[in-house]
Amino acid sequence: MRLILLGPPGAGKGTQAQRLVAKHGLLQLSTGEMLRAAVKAGTPVGLRAKDMMARGELVPDDLVIAIVSARIDEPDARNGFILDGFPRTMPQARALDRMLEEKGLKLDAVIDLKVDENMLLERIEKRIAETRARGETLRPDDDAEVLRRRLLAYRDQTTPLVTYYRLQSVLRQVDGMVEVCDVGRAVDDALEQGAHRQASDKLSASTGGHKGKKQSTKGGQATKEGRAAKKQRPAKKPKGLRSVRPAAKTRAAKVQGTPRATRSRKASPRKSDSRRRLTKRS
Ligand code: AMP
Repeated sequence: MRLILLGPPGAGKGTQAQRLVAKHGLLQLSTGEMLRAAVKAGTPVGLRAKDMMARGELVPDDLVIAIVSARIDEPDARNGFILDGFPRTMPQARALDRMLEEKGLKLDAVIDLKVDENMLLERIEKRIAETRARGETLRPDDDAEVLRRRLLAYRDQTTPLVTYYRLQSVLRQVDGMVEVCDVGRAVDDALEQGAHRQASDKLSASTGGHKGKKQSTKGGQATKEGRAAKKQRPAKKPKGLRSVRPAAKTRAAKVQGTPRATRSRKASPRKSDSRRRLTKRS
């Protein structure tokens, strides 16, 4: 399974990522953690990123894209991973798509944790107090002013990704303001629903592939060209809705395939009957 966790800083992405790691045995790839480690080790990447991170700004795309690309090539990422904190900009999202395509990998879901920004400011103040109470060192960006800047960066540069992934039919939005365990349950439900939807889409595509010339073209579109075309379509056409059509066609095919004894011998009323049924259902 390959997942992305979206959500502003402090939304609880790290907590949910750790839970999913434990549950599914995935690898958590947190670009923030990787960059902090690079800063600590004083690597060239760390030296480039250090000041920008301390100011709450995003580090350049090329830098973070290179880190992620190298990391997902490592053997421990083969069973799947959760990207936490990446992508954060449109160029990063496009680079990730290219990266995955080149490696023959597919994204299963993007979980978007929806939170209230004012609550985030309260949370960070609480986290700072707790970290101090434990006698631990604060992160350089554990600061309310820095958080405000990071929230602005999120709003400007990361929120367009919500639409981008909605159009790819992989977006799952979850309320991040409830109790941690309830957020976890909602994330699990969202992943399960996504898996069912993907399975039913696959089934529709393969069923379409066996229903004669016209439908087999449609089945092909659902898997290849359709994915590219989908990116151009408006947000109003989520994949789940589109899968209703092939299912409806299957019902229509069944109606038309009903044994002769149970249907009228006249061709035209039967045809309009099944059409009427489809209209009622939709
Ligand atoms: P995080 O721990 O994910 O909140 O990240 C901490 C800081 O690392 C951010 O404020 C950025 O300065 C930098 N950073 C982490 N991930 C990215 C990314 N995908 N793109 C650009 N900067 C990033």
